[in-house]
Amino acid sequence: MKVAIFGAGLSGLSCAITLEKHGVNPSIFEKRSCVGDRFVNAEAMFSILERPVKDGLSYLSEVYGIHLEPISETNHLMIHSLNGESSVEGKIGYTNIRGRHENSFENQLSRQVKSKINFNFLKEYTEISKDFDSIVLATGDGDYSIKLNNYRCDITCSLKGATVEGTFLTSEPHVWFNYDILPKGYAWLIPYSQKEANLVIAFPEYPQAEIYDIDKMWKLMFDLACRDLRQSLKITDRFQIIHYIAGICESPKIGNTYFVGNCFGALSPGLGFGQFSSILTGIYAALDICNLAHYDDLVKPLFENYNHSLALRRFLEGLSNDDLDRIVKRSNLKFADTLISRLLSSDSSFDLLKWLTPLLSK
Ligand SMILES: Cc1cc2nc3c(=O)[nH]c(=O)nc-3n(C[C@H](O)[C@H](O)[C@H](O)COP(=O)(O)OP(=O)(O)OC[C@H]3O[C@@H](n4cnc5c(N)ncnc54)[C@H](O)[C@@H]3O)c2cc1C
Repeated sequence: MKVAIFGAGLSGLSCAITLEKHGVNPSIFEKRSCVGDRFVNAEAMFSILERPVKDGLSYLSEVYGIHLEPISETNHLMIHSLNGESSVEGKIGYTNIRGRHENSFENQLSRQVKSKINFNFLKEYTEISKDFDSIVLATGDGDYSIKLNNYRCDITCSLKGATVEGTFLTSEPHVWFNYDILPKGYAWLIPYSQKEANLVIAFPEYPQAEIYDIDKMWKLMFDLACRDLRQSLKITDRFQIIHYIAGICESPKIGNTYFVGNCFGALSPGLGFGQFSSILTGIYAALDICNLAHYDDLVKPLFENYNHSLALRRFLEGLSNDDLDRIVKRSNLKFADTLISRLLSSDSSFDLLKWLTPLLSK
């Protein structure tokens, strides 16, 4: 059986590993000159967003034999609003590294792949697809799905980020909801190590956002992060992304063509998490290609998760700074704190988003 995978990122490489486990050696085509050849950044995987799975990394390892080492467990999440600050404690999830770093998730996956990766592939996939029995589109965005009229875009975002030097606890990411600086958006800081972290701002690109000055927003957020962390952070590397699309395909598979990762709609519109779903879609496509399961059935819960996440996004966008302050301060109350920590924990399988969606949508 001849399988072509376009894109050697999280979903494409997970697909390749799973195919190889079942005796199929795919041909992998990657646009860049090596795996993860882009800026380094830190990302997170939070258990609450992976339900019904309790612990994403253990699940991938135990159930699918895909082994990934995080930077750290997250057991302390700091949440900042305009006038509030609170922390959530417990087994919240993990942080990990991406991009041009030997331990980035994509580099860890590529070391588990035996098939050849054809780098610097700059053709359209259609130019060679007729030579293959199955095509897996894993290019990390909705472009091909859009071209095939198979995609609904729900939101596009601008992001600007930097690597900063300072003193950090690797188990403690920070998130800021401050609509004065980032209307309808948010910012986060995820440490790579005790000395380096990634600080990123993200906000939706609605028509009114055209007048926003992203450099000014970044500067204000950087100053706020320095103030809240009580230290002078030093910027060492920067990146910027515009029109980062969150959307979802209509059909996860058309004929012999599979849409996986962000091509499928793995990126959640709520808070921009997409790693776990991307890896799952790659695995699921491989299982279908090997006639071990049906891709359409396997991705049904991911469609549901996406819709819950979209409800969360709309809800967050409807809040004011005062609402955000109230929510953040409430989570400082002892009983709320304990409850939130339990719900977020990877010891629980409670699907909070699923249960909240009907309330958020009102
Ligand atoms: C700044 C930022 C922060 C994020 N933070 C988080 C986070 O904290 N937690 C989380 O869960 N998610 C996060 N995400 C989302 C997450 O990174 C993505 O959902 C995930 O990487 C998507 O995986 P993928 O396999 O679809 O694409 P990728 O892993 O991006 O892989 C796509 C690959 O395809 C290649 N490619 C592109 N076009 C072509 C082509 N035409 N032909 C061949 N190859 C091609 C690319 O070079 C790349 O190697 C973040 C995203 C960004 C941008």
